[in-house]
Amino acid sequence: METLFCSTDENNLRKSDKVFKRAAEIIKRGGLVAFPTETVYGLGANALNSRAVKKIYEAKGRPSDNPLIVHIASLPELKGIAEEVSPKAEKLIDAFWPGPLTIIFKKKSIIPDETSGGLDTVAVRFPENAAARYFIRACGVPIAAPSANTSGKPSPTSAKHVLNDLNGKIDMIIDGGEAEFGLESTIVSAVGEEITLLRPGSVTVDMLKEVVGEINIDKTILTKPDENLRPLAPGMKYKHYSPLCNITIVKGEREKAVKYMAELGEKSKAEGEKAGIITTEEDRAFFENRGLTLLDLGRESDPETIAARLFKVLRTCDDLHLSCAFIKAFPEKGIGLAIMNRLKKAAGYNITEAR
Ligand code: AMP
Ligand code: MG
Repeated sequence: METLFCSTDENNLRKSDKVFKRAAEIIKRGGLVAFPTETVYGLGANALNSRAVKKIYEAKGRPSDNPLIVHIASLPELKGIAEEVSPKAEKLIDAFWPGPLTIIFKKKSIIPDETSGGLDTVAVRFPENAAARYFIRACGVPIAAPSANTSGKPSPTSAKHVLNDLNGKIDMIIDGGEAEFGLESTIVSAVGEEITLLRPGSVTVDMLKEVVGEINIDKTILTKPDENLRPLAPGMKYKHYSPLCNITIVKGEREKAVKYMAELGEKSKAEGEKAGIITTEEDRAFFENRGLTLLDLGRESDPETIAARLFKVLRTCDDLHLSCAFIKAFPEKGIGLAIMNRLKKAAGYNITEAR
């Protein structure tokens, strides 16, 4: 299979109408199209066509019990796929849709088991990204889409990342530039009366609480999950979002942490490893001139930029054939909760205290 790579005119999507029409034709005949969203690139198929959805699992090498998010391009479409929408869910929809929040509802039978991973619920997202909406609208059906990467790898934040992972395995990639948020959507369950956070993201706990009051936080977000646990969300699994490069997270007060990171990097280098330091702009000067490869995450005082760059930097570790890389832990508040959630999994919970 040859993968068609198509750029869009970001400033005037109507100029790219032909691209979207072609993408919609592929979806209608049961094919796979990768498309940009504000979170990460998605790998889309007709959510109502179980044969098409199965192809997503094959292309990604994704376990079939790992459900997909169904994307819609307008609010009325929700009624066609969700059985019940609780009052709290309504509030979240009002506050955050379109945007990087996925909400789980009891599903209608029109959603095949392949899409919901055998669950009786469906995860729904209404993306904000204009190209994503144009694409979904052109398709005329809800679009099932997980991240457009090989299962287990860091999520793709550019069309190039998708091409690296899935070239030849999917029909088309729509290039809409770099993803704005760079982390997958926040996922909450709104089944029943309560709201439960299943995956942290750019819509933070405080933002959710401001709209619906107290929420439950799934315990796997904060603690190292049991490997035998059947995950409610794949991001809950032990290792995920992982480069081949071995990532170590260093915890501790700043001065101590950077010193220890440099020590670990130099020691690895002396042992013949190709070692990298993933650094913030504030810490960078400390690591220079040590023969270590430095990868820039952006300013620590601007955690949104760090979130947007994280997966790209993790992929760069592999592009540079680093065997190990060291990164400082971030405070787990605000968007930091989502950053650390992805980072811990990328590192396979390899976390060490600065000594
Ligand atoms: P991805 O976009 O690759 O991160 O995958 C979609 C995410 O949504 C995964 O974390 C899924 O487990 C999660 N998800 C989708 N549907 C459901 C559902 N019905 N219940 C819980 N999690 C879900
Ligand atoms: Mg994913």
